[in-house]
Order: sequence, then structure tokens, then C-alpha cells
Amino acid sequence: MAKSEGAIYCCDCAVEVRARLTDGTEIYPHRRDLAELPFWKCDVCGNYVGCHHKTRERTRPLGCIPTQQIREARKQVHALADPLWQSGRIERRALYVEISKRIGWSYHTAKIMSVEEARKVCLAVQEIAKGLQP
Ligand SMILES: [Zn+2]
Repeated sequence: MAKSEGAIYCCDCAVEVRARLTDGTEIYPHRRDLAELPFWKCDVCGNYVGCHHKTRERTRPLGCIPTQQIREARKQVHALADPLWQSGRIERRALYVEISKRIGWSYHTAKIMSVEEARKVCLAVQEIAKGLQP
């Protein structure tokens, strides 16, 4: 396998695909600020995933390649979870640990692989929020 090809699980194709390494000029042509960022793209379905670009392995994918629906669902999770730890009512790390306990796997937003999983995370966040002091 060439260095510019990576085997990544693609949620839309439901298999590990040979993703192609590209950058922001292809994925977000109107976002010059993202032009330099690496992305892995599945040429079968056209979906993509970003990378841990701030780390030494700057082309390591964040997770699987999500579908458009999963991307939207992840945004909803962030919209729900972020204000919670930003408010200081719970630390981000503690929140993620609580979520992981409730959903049964080590939680990170990029690991959400289906809309159903995102829904479960949202429910967990809502339950946790209810249990916190206002
Ligand atoms: Zn695909």
C-alpha cells in the first residue's frame, strides 16, 4: 500500500476503505484557513475525515470516516456537551468519563460511528446534566 493510502473504516461504505490523503483545498475549497490541513477521503462515497494535525503524526485520522448524518449528529453532541463543561459545572475529562460509563465504550466524539450511537451519547449527556448542581 502506498504511503498516501490508508485503510480507514468508512461508515457509509460499511467497510475499511483505502482512503486517499488530501488537504483542505479539495475538502473545503472556500476555506483558505483550512487549506493546509490534511484529510483522508473515501473516493467511493466522497466522505472524509480530518486528522490529528496538531500532533507529531499530523496525518493520523481522527477516527472512522463519517457520513453526512453522523457529522451532523456529532455536532449535536457537541452542542449539548460543550456548554456543560464550559460552564464549569463538570470538568471535560470527568464528563467524558461519565459518558463512557453510561454508553459502555471509551467515549470520544470522533469515535461515534452511527446516528444511533450519537443519540445514546446525547441521552447520557442529558442525564448527567440533570444530576449536576445548577
Ligand atoms: Zn466510503
